[in-house]
Amino acid sequence: MSTTTVPAPVKERVLRGIAIAADQQVQPLGHGHYEVAGTHGWTYEVNLDVFSDDPHETCGCPDYRRHKRTGTVCKHITAATIYRAKSRTASRRTRLPKLSPDVVAASLDRMGA
Ligand SMILES: [Zn+2]
Repeated sequence: MSTTTVPAPVKERVLRGIAIAADQQVQPLGHGHYEVAGTHGWTYEVNLDVFSDDPHETCGCPDYRRHKRTGTVCKHITAATIYRAKSRTASRRTRLPKLSPDVVAASLDRMGA
């Protein structure tokens, strides 16, 4: 039987990234840059490189530098990615038009419905 398992260290980073994003330790700096609070009071700047044709996210932490050859992302990049996904969902939600029942009824009237 063959199963696809996530290697333990990667899984741990993802889980820690989720925890950081959930604790809102991510500060957006704009243009795809984020300041992410890590352990021991350090903060690291993550660049999600969102405007590149070939996105290649980077982080200033030692963990990222140690693992970048293998393409493993650190927990800060994970946290920033999750934060970005969440805030995009949130802004989509706030952009939804707020129509009162009266406005809807008036437009339906105009359309002759
Ligand atoms: Zn990092």
